Amino acid sequence: MKYGLPLLFLICLSTASNLRAAEPRRSAGGLHAGAATSNITPEIGGDIVGGFVPVPCTDIHDELHARCLVLDDGKSLVALVVCDLLGMHRSLCVEAKRLIEEATGIPPSHVLLSATHTHSAVNALGERVRGYQSDQPLTDYQRFVARRISDGVRRAISARRPAEIGFGSVDVPEHVFNRRWFMREGTVPSSPFGKVDRVKMNPPGGSPDLLEPAGPTDPAVSFIAVREPGGHLISIFSAYSLHYVGGVGAGQISADYFGVYCETLKRLQSAPEQDPPFVALMANGTSGDVNNINFLAPRKGLPSYEQIRKVAEDLAGKVQAALAAVEWKTEAPLAARMQELPIRWRSVEAPLLAWAQETEQKTQAAGDKNSLPAVYSGRVQRLAQASAETKAPAQVVRIGDIAIGTSPCETFAETGLEFKKRSPFKHSFMVELANGYYGYLPTPRHFELGGYETWPGTNYLEPQASVKLMDALLGMARELESPNR
Ligand SMILES: [Zn+2]
Repeated sequence: MKYGLPLLFLICLSTASNLRAAEPRRSAGGLHAGAATSNITPEIGGDIVGGFVPVPCTDIHDELHARCLVLDDGKSLVALVVCDLLGMHRSLCVEAKRLIEEATGIPPSHVLLSATHTHSAVNALGERVRGYQSDQPLTDYQRFVARRISDGVRRAISARRPAEIGFGSVDVPEHVFNRRWFMREGTVPSSPFGKVDRVKMNPPGGSPDLLEPAGPTDPAVSFIAVREPGGHLISIFSAYSLHYVGGVGAGQISADYFGVYCETLKRLQSAPEQDPPFVALMANGTSGDVNNINFLAPRKGLPSYEQIRKVAEDLAGKVQAALAAVEWKTEAPLAARMQELPIRWRSVEAPLLAWAQETEQKTQAAGDKNSLPAVYSGRVQRLAQASAETKAPAQVVRIGDIAIGTSPCETFAETGLEFKKRSPFKHSFMVELANGYYGYLPTPRHFELGGYETWPGTNYLEPQASVKLMDALLGMARELESPNR
């Protein structure tokens, strides 16, 4: 059926008025906050993507969520969202932000979307065959996640109420270990490209060949707490620089320690069944080279989920205890900046491309799909055909005297520590895997050392990317800190 012109005109009019109606009213003054969760668990039957090779999902141990916190200072709204996913393709984030802006008027720059990096989720990174593209058509699951993120933000907006805010930080060094190690000469295996690396990722635990870790860890749980004035907590947004814990059941979907931390922190509240409910969020800080394995001792086999519970319950207890030292404020000016950085993809030179083409032929002839050379020969060829621009997003969100800087990569601990040190704000921390996914982000020093995270296809961006990101974050932080300078 064809619509006549008047009907079409009416449809357009009603869309425009819906948009206006969707604009949330800014609160009358003073800080307001609301928080909500949105279930993003996939159906059983997809592929779990955290491992080197995907495994079929046969069960769901615990549900995956998009956890949402919305802050409102009477002038602007900011939405912080943490999703139980390995990572999110930039196009998924663009779509979620589009839906949020359409429904609520919050601009994309004021929405911080990040993934926890749980390794027991299904793919939201896009189809691997499409390779290294800034823009991709979305899969059904990615579209579902984008809609659920937008729903969660809308629910958080509905749950807004007057709020006080405070910052806290507690060091929990016992769960974080740098996973890149210098080893005795001749004991680091050669890379899939036949080169000798100076450091080894995830070396054998307790090996006599271990010398020392190649980088630091960041032991801090940074957190932003909001509560009803003098009363119950509304939400805690936290970030810890730990890759994930793992040790989940075979074929099971799980939010890893991130989910257990949020549930434990909720149980620790004096009124855990309040309505609207308390919502905790645990974002990933900068953990590209940091995991939960103490390499100085051989790893003990534990029952599934035991290590996850141990880490999560310890962190939740320490954050709960640290709340006692929080200084509560009734105001926190909100502002945010976001840029797509002029960072280039990692270049693939002719000899590397020739290696990849030759290796692919050899491994295919041998029926080998899963060895390191087989996997990397494909990745290198796809990287050689990357889109023209990366559009790698960087963002700084200002919440009073707190700055959150973001990276779209698995970012090394030293980058997060540098941002904390150099940011002009009283309190600063970083959230990684934000607003897109662009592989590992070693610092230039680490490119010299080599190892898994620096291999082309694990690393997607040029070796100066971490420096360019830091410059951009600090530039935006300075602008937000003194807008009139
Ligand atoms: Zn990772």
